[in-house]
Amino acid sequence: MSDRYFSSRPIPETSDDFLLDGEEAHHLIRVMRVKPGEMLTLFDGGGAEYDAEVLDVEKKTLRVKILARRFEDREWPAEMTLAAAMPKGERQRWLIEKAVELGVSRFVPLVARRSVVKADEGSAERFAKMVVEAAKQSGRNRLMTVSAPITTREFFREPSSSFRILAHPGGESLLTLLPTKTSIIAAVGPEGGFTDEEIADAINAGWQTISLGKTILRTETAAIKMAAVISAFL
Ligand code: SAH
Repeated sequence: MSDRYFSSRPIPETSDDFLLDGEEAHHLIRVMRVKPGEMLTLFDGGGAEYDAEVLDVEKKTLRVKILARRFEDREWPAEMTLAAAMPKGERQRWLIEKAVELGVSRFVPLVARRSVVKADEGSAERFAKMVVEAAKQSGRNRLMTVSAPITTREFFREPSSSFRILAHPGGESLLTLLPTKTSIIAAVGPEGGFTDEEIADAINAGWQTISLGKTILRTETAAIKMAAVISAFL
């Protein structure tokens, strides 16, 4: 797959004069040193890819000609929401990146009773950047959405017709439960695990606890294993 660049502005089907600006333009101009006449692959998260030719390189903006639009669907056939208690620091980036690669459609930062990381205001923007980076690299033409952080208390009680599973040591085997589901919501707890009250809450609201094996995984490994096992079935 050739290098892909993201436009936060929707890309028209064809155009003789489309402007790229912001960080992607900066990267193309300063790092990739693109020149007029070069061809690029662009995407805007709307499901398609575009062939574009560089027309003009200015200081901070790039004018391109949009030559063709292709709908390249690299999405999984079922919707997967992954709700996970956020780990600390760099492990957050890793988690978001792998979730995108594994086809998660919506990521929900879960605030559990034993969560170690409190949601901060800058996170939405940081997560959005990580999602774009991972989409560029993995070839997804739709962006994984990242919801606002939500407490387990609220999230577990949200009405939903999806198949909802909660990773909890000692739960049911995922392999016997998954086939035939078309919408799945999977929740993973913080380093200290879900509390008994959270588990009871979820079960009362119709969630099913599932096991990810006999070893205890770190929270981000559990989230990734969950997404990987589910995507293998979709
Ligand atoms: N100290 C906790 C483990 C927390 S692991 C305990 O012993 O219960 C962090 C989270 O990862 C858990 O809340 C769970 O959602 C998930 N997880 C880790 N290993 C798992 C396993 N073997 N099966 C199911 N879920 C697991």
